[in-house]
Amino acid sequence: MSRKALPFDGLPVSTATRAFLAERHGLLIDGQWCPALSGATLDTYDPATEMHLATVASGGAEDVDAAVQAATRAFHGPWSQLKARQRAALLVRLARLLERDAALFTELEILDNGMPRFIAGLTVSNCVEMFDYYASAILRIEGVTTTPPPHVTADAEALTYTLREPVGVVGLIVPWNVPVSTLTLKLAPALASGCTVVVKPAEETPLSALALARLIQEAGFPDGVVNIVNGPGETAGAALSAHLLVDKISFTGSTEVGRKIVQAASGNLKKVCLELGGKSPVVVMPDADLELAGPGVSMATFFLQGQNCMAGTRIFAHASIHDELVARMKAFTGFFTLGHGLDAGNNFGPLISGPHASRVLAHVDRALAQGATLVTGGAKLDRPGHFVPPTILTDVRPDMDIFRDEVFGPVMAVHRFETEDVEEIAAMANDSVYGLSGSVWTRSLSTAHKLVSRIRSGQVSINCHGAIATNIPFGGYKQSGWGREFGREGLDAYLETKAVTARL
Ligand code: NAD
Repeated sequence: MSRKALPFDGLPVSTATRAFLAERHGLLIDGQWCPALSGATLDTYDPATEMHLATVASGGAEDVDAAVQAATRAFHGPWSQLKARQRAALLVRLARLLERDAALFTELEILDNGMPRFIAGLTVSNCVEMFDYYASAILRIEGVTTTPPPHVTADAEALTYTLREPVGVVGLIVPWNVPVSTLTLKLAPALASGCTVVVKPAEETPLSALALARLIQEAGFPDGVVNIVNGPGETAGAALSAHLLVDKISFTGSTEVGRKIVQAASGNLKKVCLELGGKSPVVVMPDADLELAGPGVSMATFFLQGQNCMAGTRIFAHASIHDELVARMKAFTGFFTLGHGLDAGNNFGPLISGPHASRVLAHVDRALAQGATLVTGGAKLDRPGHFVPPTILTDVRPDMDIFRDEVFGPVMAVHRFETEDVEEIAAMANDSVYGLSGSVWTRSLSTAHKLVSRIRSGQVSINCHGAIATNIPFGGYKQSGWGREFGREGLDAYLETKAVTARL
């Protein structure tokens, strides 16, 4: 009997991953794995080979409703009875299970998303850290005591203090670009704070959320605390955003869908956290260390094939160093080896899908038609998989579409500028509807800090780009989002404050 060729034939894949892919996966609702009520399924593909990976249940509005009802029961039921230390112990157990299964998660992220192995490995170990971090943060959920109001203290002793309480049932809607990581950075603080959740993963990358759900069950979380409903954004995602029993939506994805979520959330005025798109500026000053900036600015754009919300894709290169910087960045593209992420020798994967690769290349074509110059890249590789190589465009003017629209691919746009006036440079950097990340490359502390304080972004780095970690708050100014994730603020996002005054 002939064996169906698997996409990873010839590449190292654990038996655990093979077994996981061979299964049919359901929705997790109230602790039970079940098919979608409609019977619908969705298929997921390896973007590096375009071969079928797995089939999973695809939920709709009725499945979302069942999941929200389960999360509501769990919130008022067993979950609310658990002490903070018991919640912390569950999160620590989950962290250890994830550590145990790190190879499975690394391979699922590589296969489902196309990311290189070194990024998948980092992603998974970062998720372990997030569960540990928010487990320990549980013991620091604390209110304050303050002065009671005068009408109470006029004739009695009194005490006023605040309690921090979970927001309630939370919908977590996540994108495909770093699937398990964007899920964990919401899930860990949501569970730490005592919320229950309904997760809607991206259609392109349903697998790691399902694998995580199994560990959540194995760790012993009560049924209904975490529910997973894969399915289309327009139906399952929209139903979750609009559901009247959902108290909060935490969304990571495009600015366009972020707007739809805000509208859908208005029915019950649920709270909304939005982590959206970006078009981050990278300013390279005349005194920059080009040995550092050449690779550093390249990685700012090309890390994760540019499918990275923090990507530095508007490069402002001062005229005095422009040509040398571009030459160094062009040379640095030789550092990237394109290929399947399962092979640890490859550090640059495919784009997520054929349509996405076409969209990215259409951005490049439009830039060329508007007067940009192609330095390198710009065409899809002639091989299976959605491989678009690192692409550098120069002679880009700030009014061109390529300098304004989020491309979400490996496309760097370089603008040559002449001024050294920090106000003028900051005005150029701020000429965007987005404000997620950014970086300044200079040897002058004074120039660096003057620019940092003027750039309107949630994150600005000096001589590096996209400094992201569990303890560092992350989020956007302007149309890059509402609220912050990671760190203490990431936990606060799932907590309400109750003020209590007691007449003694
Ligand atoms: P997307 O907005 O298309 O989809 C994100 C999620 O929203 C998916 O799960 C999708 O199914 C769901 N969705 C789609 N339509 C919906 C609707 N009407 N109602 C509710 N949910 C809906 O984004 P994407 O293509 O998956 O991801 C790329 C985008 O994500 C980029 O814009 C990128 O910048 C952004 N992103 C931002 C951050 C951040 O932290 N700021 C991080 C990663 C990605």
